[in-house]
Amino acid sequence: MQWLAHGFHGEMQYMATHGTRRARPAELVPGTVSVITARMDYLPRDTPPDWQAVEFDRLARPGEAIVSVYARGRDYHKVLRNRLAKLAERIAEEVGPFGHRAFTDSAPVLEAELASRSGQGWRGKHTLVLDRDAGSMFFLGEIYIDMALPESEPVTAHCGSCSACIDVCPTQAIVAPGRLDARRCISYLTIEHGGPIPEALRPLMANRIYGCDDCQLICPWNKFAKKSALPDFDAREGLTGRTLAELFAWTEDDFLRRTEGSPIRRIGHERWLRNIAVALGNAVRSGESGAREALATRAGHPSELVREHVAWGLAQQAVDPRPSPRP
Ligand code: SF4
Ligand code: SF4
Repeated sequence: MQWLAHGFHGEMQYMATHGTRRARPAELVPGTVSVITARMDYLPRDTPPDWQAVEFDRLARPGEAIVSVYARGRDYHKVLRNRLAKLAERIAEEVGPFGHRAFTDSAPVLEAELASRSGQGWRGKHTLVLDRDAGSMFFLGEIYIDMALPESEPVTAHCGSCSACIDVCPTQAIVAPGRLDARRCISYLTIEHGGPIPEALRPLMANRIYGCDDCQLICPWNKFAKKSALPDFDAREGLTGRTLAELFAWTEDDFLRRTEGSPIRRIGHERWLRNIAVALGNAVRSGESGAREALATRAGHPSELVREHVAWGLAQQAVDPRPSPRP
């Protein structure tokens, strides 16, 4: 409630509308007595051991488009919800029919808090749940059930004196340990936020066009992050190692075809172009050849939002190379 009162949720009005139903499962699903929490690792199957360094290196290549690791494969909502449904079916086979409802990243559920209170991990200073054996590169899901189960215990926190995630955040969105101002967070700005991106934050986004992983990449516990056993989260063709100019050239049809079944699709082509226009403007600032020419191709785009971000990009001047956030 305090976090909402500060306005840290930005335009994510759905976070405020459900009131106490978010924090009290039985108010959301009457009859709920226990919550089964689950987590599912999502690093792609071909992730190399030094993957954190590999990802930081992308930031040093201003012409490359960076999509957050979790979004490079299939939409996790479907994958995780199907698996939770299967888990509920198997429980029903053992105990008989029971009332239940599964959630994955659903607006009315405080899933990170449920996960940490049930022992899936502790809340890191970046606010995500992390675990000593799995880091934080996993999705969360819950099944609200009408049966009483023995409670699992929370685990103790192991951030200690580390503050690497706070220090590395390019926009200083982690305003205090465990407190995130979503309005400054690149994940929010590139995915949830619908309008113009605040100009002061644009240069700080560098070449991140969908989400941001920095606070997780820097976390020492992510040395222990696990690869997914599923092919679903393997990176799709076109979403890693591509240039900004290539992705900026996608027509709306290209965008819809290539993001079919991907979480990226829901931002739509207009926000996609807005985000890439910012990244191209930052590539101009880094002196990247071809960035201006790519921007110019969309200078007459029908969307005012896209045109304004393109104009901003074209107005940038080359500046000294930015320091790499890599430690
Ligand atoms: S996702 Fe990026 S911008 Fe958001 S808090 Fe983490 S490091 Fe900062
Ligand atoms: S980077 Fe450090 S402070 Fe941040 S979540 Fe990881 S261990 Fe905790």
